[in-house]
Order: sequence, then C-alpha cells, then structure tokens
Amino acid sequence: MLKHLEQQLAEREAQSLRRHRRVAETACAPLQSVTAHDGAPRELLTFCSNDYLGLANHPLLIEALAEGARLYGAGSGASHLISGHSRAHALLEDELAEMLSPHGPELRALTFCTGYMANLALLTALGDAQTTIYSDLLNHASLIDGARLAKAAVYTYPHNDLAGLERRIAACSTPRKLIVTDGVFSMDGDLAHLPQLLALAERHDAYVVVDDAHGFGVLGVQGRGVLSHFGLCSERLICMGTLGKAAGVAGAFVAAHRTVIDWLVQSARAYIYTTASPPAVVHAVRASLRLIRGDEGEQRRRHLVELVTAFRRGVPEVLGELLSARGWQLAASQTAIQPLVVGSSEDALAMSAALESQGLWVPAIRPPTVPSGSARLRITLSAAHGPGDVERLLSALKSAGKDMG
Ligand SMILES: *Cc1c(COP(=O)(O)O)cnc(C)c1O
Repeated sequence: MLKHLEQQLAEREAQSLRRHRRVAETACAPLQSVTAHDGAPRELLTFCSNDYLGLANHPLLIEALAEGARLYGAGSGASHLISGHSRAHALLEDELAEMLSPHGPELRALTFCTGYMANLALLTALGDAQTTIYSDLLNHASLIDGARLAKAAVYTYPHNDLAGLERRIAACSTPRKLIVTDGVFSMDGDLAHLPQLLALAERHDAYVVVDDAHGFGVLGVQGRGVLSHFGLCSERLICMGTLGKAAGVAGAFVAAHRTVIDWLVQSARAYIYTTASPPAVVHAVRASLRLIRGDEGEQRRRHLVELVTAFRRGVPEVLGELLSARGWQLAASQTAIQPLVVGSSEDALAMSAALESQGLWVPAIRPPTVPSGSARLRITLSAAHGPGDVERLLSALKSAGKDMG
C-alpha cells in the first residue's frame, strides 16, 4: 500500500495538484506570520480566510472564551444525549432560533461541532430510502459527502439550473424530495436563486436545505444570512450555518421547523455519537452573535461591502488587458469571495507564488475542489482589511500578471 500511495503522491506533484500546509504563527488577521513547508516565517498580507467580519481575533471574543472556560471548564465531557449538553449550548440554541425567526414561523436551532458534521447529520437523517436528494453541482464537499452517506437516491443538477431541476423533480418517484444547495457558493461567491428554488419546492412538495456557511453573519438584516437577504421564510426551508467563518469562532447550527430539529436529535448519528463542543467555545459564539447583530456588526458589514466594491471597480482598471489576453475572469460575485478564475492549475499556482513573493497570501484553488479547467485564485476580503490593503492587492495582481507574460 505504501508504494501505491507514493505513486499517487508523485502523480499529484507532477500535475501541480499536491497540497502543502503552512503554519500560521500568529492569530487570524490580515497581517499574519506564516511558515511555508520549506521556509522561514514571513509576515504576509492575507486574502484567504473566511473570517469575513474580522472577528476571529476580536478582544471581546477572546475574553468571552476565557470567561466561558472559567464558567464551564475546558471540555464538555460527553455527547449531547449523555451529559455534554451544557447551559451554554441551550442558550445558544435559543438565541439562534430567536435571531433566525424574527417574524416568520417559529424555528428551532440545533448546534454542532462543525459544519461538516452538521451537513452529514442533516442529510443522513432526512435522506432515507424514500427520499430523493437534488444537489447543485457546485455544492460544498460536506453536502456531497452527506448525500453519499444518505440512503436517498441522489441527483446532481447543473449549477443553478432550475429548469433542469424542475423537469427532474416533476418526474420524481419517491414520496419525499430534498433540494440541497449552498446559499453563497464557497468557491464562486455567487448566490443560489433561492426565491425561485423555494417556489419550485412549493410546486412539487419538496423541502430545501440551504448551507449558509458564507452568508451567516454577512448577509441580510443583522447578519441573519442569505434567507434574510432574500426575505424568505417558510417551513420548507432548513437552514444550516457555520460559526467558524464570519462568526469567528467554531461550530455550526441547523435552524428549522421544530419537528425537523426533534428528528435530528433522535436520529442524526453525526449529532448523537460525538462529544459536544466545548461550552467555552459556545459561550464565545454567543458573544459573537451579540457583536454580529449590533452596531459593530452593521459597521463591519458596511465596510466589507465598500472593500468589495473597491476591489471590483479596480480589477478591470488594473487587470483589464491581462484578463482579455489570457482569458481570465473575475467571477460574477457581490460577496466577500472574489475568485479570479485562471483555468490551469499551473497558472493558478504561478500567480499565487508571484503574489507571495510580493508578500501576499492568496490561495490557488485547484481540482478536485473546483471543476477541472477552472483553477483560480480564491481571493477573500474581510472587514479587518483596510482600503490600502485592497490597493496593495490590485497592484500586486498587476505585476504578478505581467511577470506571467
Ligand atoms: C466551510 C463550509 C462548511 C463546513 O463548515 P466547518 O464548520 O468548517 O466544518 C460547510 N459548507 C460550506 C459551504 C462551507 O464553506
């Protein structure tokens, strides 16, 4: 087996597909000291985290984490159904439910250790053999894996192709149907067409799972996420969100009709058979929700929108010729995820390396994370960036692109 694995690794290396981790020496922030696998620590200006509001290193959250540890200790000690379900978890569930159902049907929320586990839990618990799961082609790996693990039949529809989806769903032969989609697509930054998707679900008695990992905290009224952005509420909507991205801490939740939540507690194996997250972490998430919903969250969201606007205005000015000459494309995204699609893995890696030589960290995203031929720089902006950071990014992109000649 070792020999086989070595061959596989060599093959990936040859195709520019081998991944290397770096070690972050300092906290998640625009300026970070980072050690590459073959180098010494360097301070880089980063455009890669999902810390969209810049809360991961916020003093109030650091203090809340410490306070949480003093109140509840370091670990939960057991799974939720044994003894690990703390007062902190119960309060967070209530606060999320209240935040996400201000006017609409009364939702309930359930928290998870990670978004990956929330998606496995949700899709395996709802996707039984009498269900068909309809999944967008560009959905996150955790949704794909959840669908694979479920007993349901799975049909993958082309990205945002609602007409194709409707034809398939009209011919569905199982009693239950579940449409599954990212709210904000993680590698593209564009949005699912949720109002149309919900209308389609209503026509065909389907339910919709929305993975709001990249919308929660950032989009909608008080950062309630992509459903609030579109003004949607319905008992057909099952919303999953993560707490390690814009919320800056860790964990995830599902918010849905109380019957769905009751069923998950009874049957979702990825919820039941794992140790509950540390209550101190949950206590810090509660502090994060207060920031997100308050004036500071509002200011941070406004600032982020300004950065996105400045970046998108700057790209054609600074990179216009390069884009048309090489066939590169800035994705049509209005969110903090601003991918520059360059096509080949080699080009993506070369651009990423050229940016790094100028002191910037912009990750190259390659297959299989994105479809083959669509390797890209996944640029992410954060409210912790300043306008000068965006200017530096634009001019570094320009000179890196020139060097690619
Ligand atoms: C990050 C992400 C997840 C997984 O969340 P974690 O909390 O990091 O495990 C799920 N779905 C999407 C769309 C994501 O981007």
